[in-house]
Amino acid sequence: MAGIMVIGGGIAGTATALALHKAGFGVTVYEAHPDSGEDIGAFLTLASNGMRALAQLDAAEPVAGLGFPITRMSMIDEAGAPLSAMPLGEHDHPLTRYRCLRRAELGAVLQREVRRRGIPIRHSARLVAVSESETAATAVFADGSSATGDLLVGADGLRSAVRSQLDPTAPGPEYAGQRVFYGYTTGATPVPGDPDLITMVRGSGAAFGYLVSPAKETFWFARVPGPAATAEEIALMTPGQWRERLLPLLRPDRTPAADIVAATDDRLLVTNALHLAPGARWHGRRTVLVGDAAHAASPATGQGASMALEDAVVLAKALRDAETPAAALDCYELHRRPRVERNITASARLTSSRTDSPGPQARDSERPASRVDEELLRLLDWDTPLPGSGRGA
Ligand SMILES: Cc1cc2nc3c(=O)[nH]c(=O)nc-3n(C[C@H](O)[C@H](O)[C@H](O)COP(=O)(O)OP(=O)(O)OC[C@H]3O[C@@H](n4cnc5c(N)ncnc54)[C@H](O)[C@@H]3O)c2cc1C
Repeated sequence: MAGIMVIGGGIAGTATALALHKAGFGVTVYEAHPDSGEDIGAFLTLASNGMRALAQLDAAEPVAGLGFPITRMSMIDEAGAPLSAMPLGEHDHPLTRYRCLRRAELGAVLQREVRRRGIPIRHSARLVAVSESETAATAVFADGSSATGDLLVGADGLRSAVRSQLDPTAPGPEYAGQRVFYGYTTGATPVPGDPDLITMVRGSGAAFGYLVSPAKETFWFARVPGPAATAEEIALMTPGQWRERLLPLLRPDRTPAADIVAATDDRLLVTNALHLAPGARWHGRRTVLVGDAAHAASPATGQGASMALEDAVVLAKALRDAETPAAALDCYELHRRPRVERNITASARLTSSRTDSPGPQARDSERPASRVDEELLRLLDWDTPLPGSGRGA
């Protein structure tokens, strides 16, 4: 297979391009945005399984230069009393530690890595239509141009145009029942915080989490159950107005949450938690979905980016190892669908459980070595043939 088109230059698209390139395929990335879109944006926690996937693509090092590592998590209740404390993920090795970083920074560094390896990225290329045959796929872009390749990978996120073309009956994203607030507080940090610790607060009115960076900046989020923020509210409300809405939910508790939010200036943003219902079609004859386009989960488990990175490795291994593209796409879906759909369900459960633990998704990598973990390690290990792909495993 010579030419693969990756639609979307976000986390899933760039990682898939790196993986396909490493497997020896010719790849071009088509990204709707005119530039790499770096902004302040929301932050995310990249879990050990995501870092491990990046390591398979020889891309963990540049990412480990971003943000800061997290090696421990503690949880407190609404009275500020400790509930639990635990090490997080594969914390022994600098390249597999959980990291806290800004989502846009991660996207930008991965795009840089794609360019550094000579993989073309075409910006301002918004896909509007896809067609496919037994042997090729064609992408049509908003400017009227088109491109044809052996395979088209839809890495175009939650509102994927590729998904709607592949499965016009697939339901779009649904509101998962919580608004998510993000903020950054600098200057006088209102709480002492260890740089490698994430503190989760099981509050009475919101699930809250915070980390203090080595530069003494507090990164925080709050997940608030209730009706979705309207498009008008998101467009018109100022950070200060959102802050005043959030504070009354935090003030009754005896935790640092209200002080942290009160000390936040205009670096505060709000979004609705959205997810996709499991079950939609993932691939056609020469079209396949990865990342949020296939399986967006609400953010409670903190695994969306890591799952996208895992997809990239497994899809490239499947295409490398299977005898035909059809067998490769079946094999990819077979290995990925159960795991990512478990994540959607787990995240939805956390989201609907009022103010239950928001936990960055420690579950997979924090578990003691188990059969599942070993299975995942084998799936991700670049040199191990993908089981079921036809290449001797
Ligand atoms: C509030 C929030 C908090 C989160 N927190 C975490 C967390 O802590 N940890 C974690 O792991 N994950 C988290 N996630 C999830 C994570 O951000 C996503 O799972 C991840 O970004 C998915 O990457 P993606 O590349 O699939 O999609 P995206 O990052 O959305 O990238 C899609 C790309 O496709 C491009 N595109 C879109 N349409 C087209 C088109 N028609 N043609 C061409 N290009 C197109 C877009 O411009 C974009 O660059 C969070 C998500 C949200 C919303």
